[in-house]
Amino acid sequence: MREDTKRKRGVLDEPLIFERGSTGRVGYSLPEDDIPARDLERDLPGELRRETLAEFPEVSEGEVLRHFTRLSQWNFSAATTLYPLGSCTMKYNPVINEVVARLPGFAQLHPLMPDEYTQGALTLLADLERCLAEISGMDAISLQPAAGAQGELTGMKLIRAHHQAQGHPRKKVLIPGSAHGTNPASAALCGYAVVEVPTSPAGMLEAATVAKHVDADVAALMVTNPNTLGLFEREITQITEVLHTHGALVYMDGANLNALMGVAKPGHMGADVIQFNLHKTFSTPHGGGGPGAGPVGVKKILEPYLPIPRLVRAAEQYAWSDAFPHSIGRVRSFYGNFGILVRAYAYILALGSDGLTHATRMAVLNANYLRKRLEQTYHLAHDEPCMHECVFSDRSFTQAGVKTLDIAKRLLDYGFYAPTIYFPLVVSGALMIEPTETESKETMDEFADALLTIAKEIEDTPSALKDAPLTTPVSRLDETRAARHPVLRWRKPSA
Ligand SMILES: *Cc1c(COP(=O)(O)O)cnc(C)c1O
Repeated sequence: MREDTKRKRGVLDEPLIFERGSTGRVGYSLPEDDIPARDLERDLPGELRRETLAEFPEVSEGEVLRHFTRLSQWNFSAATTLYPLGSCTMKYNPVINEVVARLPGFAQLHPLMPDEYTQGALTLLADLERCLAEISGMDAISLQPAAGAQGELTGMKLIRAHHQAQGHPRKKVLIPGSAHGTNPASAALCGYAVVEVPTSPAGMLEAATVAKHVDADVAALMVTNPNTLGLFEREITQITEVLHTHGALVYMDGANLNALMGVAKPGHMGADVIQFNLHKTFSTPHGGGGPGAGPVGVKKILEPYLPIPRLVRAAEQYAWSDAFPHSIGRVRSFYGNFGILVRAYAYILALGSDGLTHATRMAVLNANYLRKRLEQTYHLAHDEPCMHECVFSDRSFTQAGVKTLDIAKRLLDYGFYAPTIYFPLVVSGALMIEPTETESKETMDEFADALLTIAKEIEDTPSALKDAPLTTPVSRLDETRAARHPVLRWRKPSA
């Protein structure tokens, strides 16, 4: 066995922490206890006490460290490999942001501190609001929502409040078939009926099609631009005009802002409200459900309804104010996910406006580089230049009996996390690749080479892919059974 393979086996052969160590071993050393003993019987009645000791692991500090470091190697992350999960924007997150967010003045600030003692933090938040307004072309910002989806719900509530103030909340929200699943969910949670608007064969939303669906009961269109096919909606200004003519509003899902920032502004395209996914575009390690921040930006017409408390400036000081009678109220405790807001602010200031523009251009260039490297082998859903992500399908391989899932699983054996698969739903067997701006040409080449090698494997022995992955702690699972009957106890693989 080769040395590196042995090392890899060692990492993958990690037992439960309960199976390490030995009786009486501890991972700490404390001075002798000099607090007088008390009568346990008096403080803790017998029926509340265990009869046998809890079986905690008995391990040294080094064993704990190695155990968890090894387990961390079982994972895929942007810190270990290119992580091309389309729509999720898993880019490199500068570590300096972590240092800044941990500064005691930020990290140990209590949210109930009086405003007069938190002027530094409030100035940061106010300045971040200004930066986001500038980047998006919107008039006002709320930093409160804690995730993209919560930003969507907040935005839809603002739209509802606006229509309500006109005397009628309206009934329907138009959403293109290519939308992220959270869009219809947010609209429905807000009490709206979702009407799907078909996209053209070229994957685009057309103003004429939208016009056919608009009537006096339509509250808004929810649209992502660039859309989830990675294509820029060329008719976006005509589309937003159609909605506005009917007194409806436009919600733009801003999760893909890393394809626009510094180059184009949703505010200029006619969006009335957008959410920012700070954890994606503005760099925070994220995934597996958090942490995140999903501020919303609005045009003047929606500003009266923004969540309270809002940051106001009076007598040379910043302060939180609830004096907004038309507000939809709070959407989260306190003032938003502060640590993420600090990271986003650090990222924006570190890059500056030229840097943000450059990041956008590189994100688009990288996606197009991969598109060109793979287009002869993998079927492109839409054969034209893309923005920050490109969508392939498994069409060239279905004849050989190989599906997107097989390709995605096999990629793990090559050390790469898989792209987003089977999304967007409008592409059968979709493989949605987003390299982000932070990958080098060499890394993207390794990734493209892996995909091309897999294509060769499909040509030679397609059946071999059915068992992939072969080099991970567990190999192919029955996905349905794994979800319904999870086996949470680790078992030693048989030799
Ligand atoms: C990620 C994403 C969302 C949801 O954002 P969360 O922060 O995960 O709630 C919404 N829309 C699009 C297009 C996204 O990529």
